[in-house]
Amino acid sequence: MSNESFDFSGLTGLSGQPGGLPGLPDESVLQELANQFFQAPPVPQGVAGTVPSSVAGSGISPSAVNQGNGVDINDPQTSLPDPHFAGTGHVPSSVAGSGKSPSAPYADAGQTKGGARSAGTSGGVSAPSYPGFAGAQGFTGIPGSAGTPGFASVPGYYFITDKNPFVKSVPAHPAGAALASAPYDVNKVRRDFPILQQYVNGRPLIWLDNAATTQKPRSVIDRVSQFYERENSNIHRAAHELAARATDAYEGAREKVRRFLNAASPNEIVFVRGATEAINLVAKSWGDQFLQPGDEIIVSHLEHHANIVPWQQLAKAKNLKLKVIPVDDQGQVLLDAYGALLSSKTKLVSFTQVSNALGTITPAQKMVAMAHAVGAKTLVDGAQAVSHMPVDVTALDCDWYVFSGHKVFGPTGIGVLYGKEDLLNETQPWQGGGNMIRDVTFEHTTYHNAPGRFEAGTGNIADAVGLGAAIDYVTAIGMPLISQYEHYLLEYASRLLTGVPGLRIIGTAADKAGVLSFILDGYKTEEVGAALNQWGIAVRSGHHCAQPILRRFGQESTVRPSLALYNTCGDIDALVAVLHRLSSNK
Ligand code: PLP
Repeated sequence: MSNESFDFSGLTGLSGQPGGLPGLPDESVLQELANQFFQAPPVPQGVAGTVPSSVAGSGISPSAVNQGNGVDINDPQTSLPDPHFAGTGHVPSSVAGSGKSPSAPYADAGQTKGGARSAGTSGGVSAPSYPGFAGAQGFTGIPGSAGTPGFASVPGYYFITDKNPFVKSVPAHPAGAALASAPYDVNKVRRDFPILQQYVNGRPLIWLDNAATTQKPRSVIDRVSQFYERENSNIHRAAHELAARATDAYEGAREKVRRFLNAASPNEIVFVRGATEAINLVAKSWGDQFLQPGDEIIVSHLEHHANIVPWQQLAKAKNLKLKVIPVDDQGQVLLDAYGALLSSKTKLVSFTQVSNALGTITPAQKMVAMAHAVGAKTLVDGAQAVSHMPVDVTALDCDWYVFSGHKVFGPTGIGVLYGKEDLLNETQPWQGGGNMIRDVTFEHTTYHNAPGRFEAGTGNIADAVGLGAAIDYVTAIGMPLISQYEHYLLEYASRLLTGVPGLRIIGTAADKAGVLSFILDGYKTEEVGAALNQWGIAVRSGHHCAQPILRRFGQESTVRPSLALYNTCGDIDALVAVLHRLSSNK
C-alpha cells in the first residue's frame, strides 16, 4: 500500500458511531489482559468497594512504584496504589485497581487548548475527543464515543487539581538519595516539559520518539537562556567576570557529567557534539595512532551506524579486520559466539549498551571483562542507555563511554566522551587549534592533557551548561526510579502491543529498555507512522540508522515507539487503540 492510496478517513470522525467499533479490542479481552498485568491489590480495610471492571490502562499505572508501602516493586504483577494518593493511608477504590489509569495523559490542571480553562469541567481539561472508542473504559483519556464530549467527561480523578484532597500529599521531587524510595508522579514530571502541553493535528501530543531525541524540561530551557542572558563569554582565556562565570558554568557541567557517570575525574570527561562525534574521535585519534594492519575490531550486530561506519572507514584505511558479534532470535548478543571471536588480535570491542532499534540491553559489564581478558580496549555506546538506567563507568570498567546530550533531555549539539585518564593522555589529539595547546611555535606544539587536548576551538559552552541542567533534572528524580517506572511501562506496552492482530514485535530480549520496534501486517511502516501522526502520536518509522540489525530480522524498516520518563499508560493506550483500528481495517 502506498502512502498516496492510504485512506485516513476511517481514522477520523468516528465519534458519532454508536456502540463498539469494528476491530476495536473487545472489552473482555482487554480486561483479562489488564488483570493479568496488574492484579488488583488487596483493598484496604474500610475502603472496600466494588472494583470496577478493568480494561487496558487498568488497575495501576506504572507510576505507582516505590510507595514504601511494603509492596514489592520488583514484582511486576504486584498492584500498587497510585502515587497521587500516596501517604494518605487511603487509596480510593475508584483509583487503586480500579480499571482507571491514573496516569492518563494531559492531567495538568487548567491545561486547555489555547490556555483557556473550559467551563463545566470539574478540574479536568477540555480537549478534542479521540474518536472511536465507544465504551472502552480502558482507553482512558481517549473518550469520544457518541455523546462523549472529549476529556470533559472523564472523571476528575485523572487530573491533578487542588480540589483533589489527595494530591497535596504528593511530594515535590525531594533531593538526593531519598528519591529512590519516593513515589513517581508522572503527571508532575509531564508538567516540567512545555512541549508536551501542545496539540498536534488537533490532539494532545503523545511523544513516543524518544530514542531519536528527548524533550527538554523547563529547567534545561531556562538554564540555556540564563547562560546567554547573564554568563555568556568564551571560557578559560579572559580575565573578566563573565569569562569566570562562563568557565565555572562549563566546568561545573563537566563535574555533573563526571558524577552522573561515576567517572574518577572530570579530566575523563570530554565535551563533543554527540555520540557520533565521540566515536569518530576515538577512531581518528586512538585508532589511527595505535592500530596496525591485521588488528581486529569487534562490534555487535546491534550497532547504530555511528558505531559501524567509523570503524569500517578505519579498517579500510589501515587494513584492519572488522568482526561482528551475532545475536539470537530475540535480539540478544550471543556471548559464546562473542568469546569465539576474541583473540590476541582483537584490539577493540565497541558495542552498544542499549540497542536503539530493538531496545536490547547488552550484558555490557561481562562483555567488557571478556574483551579485557584478551587485552582489547572497549568502547561502550551509551546513547540509548543514559536516559533509561543508572550508568557507572567505573563498575563497567570500559575504556571509553559515549553519549549524546539530546537523548537525555539536554540540548542538541552537545555530548560526552568518557575515557580513562591515562588512555586519553597517551592518545594524540584528533583536531588542532586553540584551547588544546600548552605551547605553540612554528616548529612544534605541545598539547594540554585531557580533556583540553580533545576540545580544540570554542566548544558548545551554553549547551554543555544545559546538559548539566538535564543531569540535575534526572538526578533529582533518581535514575533508579526512572528505570523502574519505565520498566513497568515497557512491560505494559509490550503486553498490549502483543494483543494487536497482525502486529509483530521485533526484538524480544529478556533485558530491554525503552524501545518497541514492530511491523503491522498489511501496512508499510511509514503508513503506520503517518496514521499515528493523525492522532498526534509521534513515533519513528524507518531503519533507525541500524540497517544491519533490522536485516537480521528480515526487515528494512520498523515502526518504533520509544519511551521516556514522561510517558504514561494513557500514551500506550492511545497508541494501541489506533493500531487496533488499523489492524481491523485490513
Ligand atoms: N548510538 C546509538 C545507539 C544511537 O541510538 C544514536 C542515535 O540515535 C547514536 C549512537 C548517534 O547519536 P547522535 O546522532 O546523537 O550522535
